[in-house]
Amino acid sequence: MIKHYDQTIFDLSKAGRIGYFLPDTNIDYEMILDDMPKDMLRKSPLNLPEVSENMVVRHYTNLSNKNYGVDTGMYPLGSCTMKYNPKINETVAGLEGFYNQHPSWPLSKLQGSLSMLYDLQNYLKEITGMHAISLEPSAGSQGELTGLMIIKKYHELTGNGHKYKIIIPDSAHGTNPASVNMAGYEVVELPSNNLGKIDLVALEGVLDLDVAGLMLTNPNTLGIFETDIKRISEMVHQVGGLLYYAGANMNANLGITRPSDMGFDIVHLNLHKTFSTPHGGGGPGSGPVGVVEKLAEYLPTPIISKDHSGYNFEEPKHTIGKIKQYYGNFSILLRAYTYILTMGYDGLKNASKLAVLNANYMLSRLKNHYRQPYPGYCKHEFVLSGLIPTDKSADMTLDKTEDMHIRTYDVAKRLIDLGVHPPTIYFPLIVEQALMIEPTESESKESIDNYIDILLQIADEAVKEPALLLDAPINAPVRRLDEVSAARRPILRYDAKRSPHE
Ligand SMILES: *Cc1c(COP(=O)(O)O)cnc(C)c1O
Repeated sequence: MIKHYDQTIFDLSKAGRIGYFLPDTNIDYEMILDDMPKDMLRKSPLNLPEVSENMVVRHYTNLSNKNYGVDTGMYPLGSCTMKYNPKINETVAGLEGFYNQHPSWPLSKLQGSLSMLYDLQNYLKEITGMHAISLEPSAGSQGELTGLMIIKKYHELTGNGHKYKIIIPDSAHGTNPASVNMAGYEVVELPSNNLGKIDLVALEGVLDLDVAGLMLTNPNTLGIFETDIKRISEMVHQVGGLLYYAGANMNANLGITRPSDMGFDIVHLNLHKTFSTPHGGGGPGSGPVGVVEKLAEYLPTPIISKDHSGYNFEEPKHTIGKIKQYYGNFSILLRAYTYILTMGYDGLKNASKLAVLNANYMLSRLKNHYRQPYPGYCKHEFVLSGLIPTDKSADMTLDKTEDMHIRTYDVAKRLIDLGVHPPTIYFPLIVEQALMIEPTESESKESIDNYIDILLQIADEAVKEPALLLDAPINAPVRRLDEVSAARRPILRYDAKRSPHE
């Protein structure tokens, strides 16, 4: 059951309360109304809440306090890299010269912005080792689709249009198979071995001349580095396939290894993960795509180029076309550019080292209390299982006939009660009851220790007081939701007739 939710702004409304002042004007509204087509006139008054200024301010401030974000606390979503968003990024994105410009201005007036985009292309080339970069895609998933369209066009124009298969390991991010389907390719799923890595024998078994490419994340979504990557890339290239790096999360690799060193041909980056730009509800995304030299002529248009006359737009010879209006999510690109300049080479490299250190510190303190499905050290993230057998004698109210286990879902809800955000849960799919944790480099030892202590407390409660977990959350604005209805039939409009209990 859903706990009573706070009043809406409409419930606070009383006729005559106002929170604004408008000066008198000499506009003759009657005359304007006479000129309007009658069927366009509103028949009944607009149902707006009537509230005072302080009621509005308090209402929305209280609502915002119910939210949880990287500005409130640690947010260790594995794979999604919820690192801190430095405020200097916002300051730069808010500079008048940037936010007051319009993308339809002539290029001569946009030279400053184009030089920023040009430099960012170069920084990302350096970081990935790729030959050319497109800043256009506005999400990791759109970057994937862009990359796959490039793979397709390349094969078509080089006499290999018959290729129709893309290989993806079973640990892959869910967007990978979705993008493959959207690009018109067929997915071939590759099982991982018992170390959580690509099984080379299984790979050998699925490679043939119909393979257009292989998509991979490295470290993979288990937080494990694919140490056979050079061999994997040789094998895929031998059958004429291309290697796609789902590099949304590059947080273990900055300044340490590059997709080009590993033999990849195409990579996308998520600026809203690795490069500290806002994420999820916090703002639009950005998923630049980089390619090796032979694929540069297929990139989306335009690419920013530079010659003696200044910065220009260039259309790659065999471009797959335009995939986003104007030039990518400009203000997000600007934030990532600011982050890279703030950090510098040493700073970025240090961020990756710290991200890996923080993850291994957490893993080492947790692995004796939560089952670790794949042994060994991790990179920037790790996966545990939230399936914990309970002590059946602990709580008389529980039904002893059931197989008594606490599940990841219960652990996640209890974390909310104890004041922190749960990690990624139920992903990757190959781990039963997965808890996927990525602390990032931006957390202090104190906040990491606090999170670990809470997880240890929960592991203890799971055995001794499982009801605490099964009832959770009790401290959140809402209790356990009917998640299917919440996703399929969300209620997005105020309805005075509906009670807040529904
Ligand atoms: C996050 C992620 C994606 C998807 O990125 P979006 O911007 O959410 O579309 C793809 N691949 C990997 C490995 C990811 O971590």
